[in-house]
Amino acid sequence: MIAEVIVDVPANQTDKPFDYLVPDEWSDLLEAGMRVIVPFGPRKLLGFVIGLKDASEFGKLRSILSIVDDAPVLGEELIALGDWLARTTLCYKIQAFQAILPSMMKASYKKTLRVSSDQSLEEWPELQTLFGKKKLWAWEDIQKVAPKTLSKVKKALKEGILVADQHVGDQRTYKTIKHYLLAKKANEVLASLTGRARKQHELLEWMLRQPVGASFSFSDLEQAVSATRNTVKTLVEKGALVEEEVDVFRDPYQKEIQTTEPLPLTREQQLAILPILKDLETDTARVHLCHGVTGSGKTEIYLQTIQEVLKKGEQAIVLVPEISLTPQMVDRFKGRFGSDVAVLHSGLSQGEKFDEWRKIQRDEVRVVVGARSAIFAPFSNLGVIIIDEEHETSYKQEETPRYHAKDVAVFRSRYHKCPVILGSATPSLESYARAQKGVYHLITLKERVNNRMLPPVRIVDMREELREGNRSIFSKPLLEALQDRLQKGEQSVLLLNRRGYSTFILCRDCGYVVKCPHCDISLTFHQKEQRVKCHYCDYSLPVPRVCPECQSEHIRFFGSGTQKVEEALTQLLPEARVIRMDVDTTRRKGSHEKLLGQFGSRQADILLGTQMIAKGLDFPYVTLVGVLAADTTLHIPDFRSAEKTFQLLTQVGGRAGRHELPGEVIIQSYDPEHYSIVRAQHHDYDQFYVQEMMFRKQHDYPPFFYLTLITVSHESYVKAQETTKKMAVYLKKHLTEEAVILGPVAPAVARIKDRYRSQCMIKYKREPGLMPALKGLLDHYQNAYLKDGLSITIDVNPYAIM
Ligand code: ADP
Ligand code: ZN
Ligand code: ZN
Repeated sequence: MIAEVIVDVPANQTDKPFDYLVPDEWSDLLEAGMRVIVPFGPRKLLGFVIGLKDASEFGKLRSILSIVDDAPVLGEELIALGDWLARTTLCYKIQAFQAILPSMMKASYKKTLRVSSDQSLEEWPELQTLFGKKKLWAWEDIQKVAPKTLSKVKKALKEGILVADQHVGDQRTYKTIKHYLLAKKANEVLASLTGRARKQHELLEWMLRQPVGASFSFSDLEQAVSATRNTVKTLVEKGALVEEEVDVFRDPYQKEIQTTEPLPLTREQQLAILPILKDLETDTARVHLCHGVTGSGKTEIYLQTIQEVLKKGEQAIVLVPEISLTPQMVDRFKGRFGSDVAVLHSGLSQGEKFDEWRKIQRDEVRVVVGARSAIFAPFSNLGVIIIDEEHETSYKQEETPRYHAKDVAVFRSRYHKCPVILGSATPSLESYARAQKGVYHLITLKERVNNRMLPPVRIVDMREELREGNRSIFSKPLLEALQDRLQKGEQSVLLLNRRGYSTFILCRDCGYVVKCPHCDISLTFHQKEQRVKCHYCDYSLPVPRVCPECQSEHIRFFGSGTQKVEEALTQLLPEARVIRMDVDTTRRKGSHEKLLGQFGSRQADILLGTQMIAKGLDFPYVTLVGVLAADTTLHIPDFRSAEKTFQLLTQVGGRAGRHELPGEVIIQSYDPEHYSIVRAQHHDYDQFYVQEMMFRKQHDYPPFFYLTLITVSHESYVKAQETTKKMAVYLKKHLTEEAVILGPVAPAVARIKDRYRSQCMIKYKREPGLMPALKGLLDHYQNAYLKDGLSITIDVNPYAIM
């Protein structure tokens, strides 16, 4: 038997299966999708078996050295998915497989040194001490423990006194606990116990009443017969109990969650779910775009769809953006489906992620709720894939492989013949346009559950405020509204739209802005350390006291961070209790949950935060939502900036008045006539869509055209520019007349970590020659990084244009 293996070397020459012989004794054990260790040149490598066959067109084949897994880690579907990812995102197959699996399953390579069996260390006194202590040494350990012997070690290696062995494995770890079971001698020991050993007696008798072969953890025994550690230990020593290590799952969610029952659906919800249920019945792979205003009960539709899927004996994947993976959201799924739910998010340790993955693979759960990478959950019988907040750009991975979870969802739904539900109050233009054309099936929910009103939105013109002499961060109307809520004992949410917001240091005399000397961006002020920092390379400086350009003392920090707003709040409303949520206050594990819990139990009046508070929160006493600077996102150099602004404002607006108390939204803006702000004010997605589509059409942007972005970087500005120029010429030759090739262009951030960047953007409609041409470019430049320091990334359907 021959195995086709993708080896763990991300390079062009190795981006194809290699044939290996399978030793006869393994021909029954080995299956496609298992990982193996194979010889590759002088090395040993981890690899994935992607197929088995009887014959190979190659002569002398080498044999597989060992099998790593006892069951396939990739099924037939995921092997095909890896192949498709590699083709559509232009990555290597090995990178695609690595993205599909938890990171603990990546290979780890270790080298150890030992004394050659036919040699002795007689003439090597330094090494005698070293190898007297331990027979095997890892290279790094020698470096740490005895750096002075390194040269001797190298010499000994060369002379064959020492040998190096390579070890290949992966990074998996298991959590184990001790279990106890009865030994053969148990009865004998029991009979010999004296009357004083009452506890031991009791424990053994209890164990003897349990099913044969059952094993128990210490806490089981503690609960059953109040056993102490000492009693257990003594019985192990006497040979009555046997101790064994058993492998357990790390469980990050240990709290009890109240179970919930399905709610009777409203008329709108009933109409919405009908076509989805029909697809479930007929095993149809169709994409539904569920456009429902905030609070229209989309989540209840997801829950009841999943319930049907489980009835069919199938499984469900639910994707939510990382920042809305709040405990509140998770509880809604756990409340309905209990221990059938696995949760995958970035707050889990590698080990916890691996354990959640194992639960899925062993069919111990049937629903996965998670961020982007949960789309790869290894279910074998998927019944539905749900992507909530489908417009979120975090569903696109911004590193290799640059995949979009939506595309993966469509691939998987075709394989499993199951529907996909994309849900949003503000669908991406791409999705909505597809729904308009009938590529997706459109479901609309116009009303909030129980006819609760969408909150009225008021826009405050900050230029006007300035003219009237108000220089504070808070406009008069917003401040008054905050005071009003304080008096009534109601709660407020304040959003500081920090994306694109600068907290830079500016000289008010000469306009000098403190920038990073390595990257082309302004440094950000960090109050706690009183330093300015670069967010790209971590370069930092103490805050300058005088302007380096003109020596003026009027150099100061400009713009508002959450801390600054918090300070201003305490001054203006000293009696208000404020909770601040931003990257600084939520860094510690569980702090997110704790802060929200405090706000939920009304230990604070105002929740102040960045984007992370815009989504998924649902608190009954919140009646005011304020947005401090609505238009900062408008100034990001990205063609999606209006869409992002509209989405954000609509989302935060949805946080107010979700329950009995009516809500209100106040948006502060320096650009109050902008259509993204005006349309958000009127909750008018349809009009926003029409206006934004006109803009996209005018400039040949998606969804009218597709984009692909090539970014080249090099220490030399000229080199980066010229390479891009050559690429543009090459592409013009290989693409049709219809394709627009822009470049070289200088991106918004022109330099990162001392490397100049240059970009080439391709706009196209149908371009069958594009993928081969791009692959050709990559092949051509593959060794360029090593050779002349060029780096090239290709992003098909980019979301980050910077
Ligand atoms: P969305 O996901 O569209 O923002 P949610 O699913 O969060 O909306 O629903 C908003 C609120 O309405 C939630 O508190 C939810 O429990 C409630 N709700 C949803 N469907 C129903 C229903 N059919 N009957 C009563 N309450 C419902
Ligand atoms: Zn100056
Ligand atoms: Zn920098």
